[in-house]
Amino acid sequence: MLIYGKEIREEIKQRVRTAASTRSMVLSVVSVGEDPASQAYVKGIRRFAEDTGVQCNLIKLPEHCTEEELLRMIEALNQDDYVTGIMLQTPLPQHISADRITEAIHPGKDVEGIHVQNLGHLVNRTAWIKPSTPKAVVHMLKSNEVELEGARVTIIGRSAIVGTPLALMLMDEDATVTLCHSRTRDLKKISLESDILIVAAGRENLVTDDMVHEDMVVIDVGTNYNAQGKMVGDVSQAAKEKARLASAVPGGVGTITVAELFDNLCILAEQA
Ligand code: NAD
Repeated sequence: MLIYGKEIREEIKQRVRTAASTRSMVLSVVSVGEDPASQAYVKGIRRFAEDTGVQCNLIKLPEHCTEEELLRMIEALNQDDYVTGIMLQTPLPQHISADRITEAIHPGKDVEGIHVQNLGHLVNRTAWIKPSTPKAVVHMLKSNEVELEGARVTIIGRSAIVGTPLALMLMDEDATVTLCHSRTRDLKKISLESDILIVAAGRENLVTDDMVHEDMVVIDVGTNYNAQGKMVGDVSQAAKEKARLASAVPGGVGTITVAELFDNLCILAEQA
């Protein structure tokens, strides 16, 4: 059965709306250049902000701006008491280090939860702000009453914004986690031994039906565009049909991710 994120998104939206009606919340989104995929993501963020009464400021810098100019902009936002959270839109042009810019964001304004200090708290199990996509995955599993304690979870993809923080968050839920990546041997065997399979690799049809079993819960984080220009995940249609529960793409995790970003903004506002 396919599972969707719309209900969770609406539930978070209502909470954000209530929070925004009692205190001012300002999200500053910084982007450099004209990447079309990132523009679509920013559009979704602005729409969510409008729907909830959050002020969203988009700061667009030209493609040729220097790393120093971008750092000065981040510092000005760090110092601005009206700004609740800062989001850095990626990809950045090659001459700018995304790591350096991310580390310049004040951890108390890191709405994406990706500053090393906030990621370090995840390891320590003391995190109060967590990356939005892994939050969306955990939220989806819990909302669908998927047992996490003791569950064998396989995650495919070990990026610093999805797979790795998600592994930490699921271990915190007492799951037993196997984190796989492009050098993992025998993905099929590992996958078939798990109760929950989460795929965040960015490869269309990476997971085929022979890699899933009928009792499995599959969460597809992947966002790819196929030859027909249609958005698809990393898990084949046949694999989703075989699994007990499988998240839709589009309409699944991606629907919740933006909402979780605003949930983080509420947490930052409370802590400010
Ligand atoms: P990334 O490129 O940083 O990382 C990809 C990971 O997948 C790497 O760890 C790599 O080792 C692994 N991988 C790649 N090919 C593999 C293979 N053949 N076998 C096993 N592992 C393989 O990507 P990312 O930023 O983590 O994003 C992953 C996917 O999730 C992308 O499709 C991205 O668009 C999507 N995404 C979706 C959301 C959302 O809200 N739905 C948010 C973030 C990312």
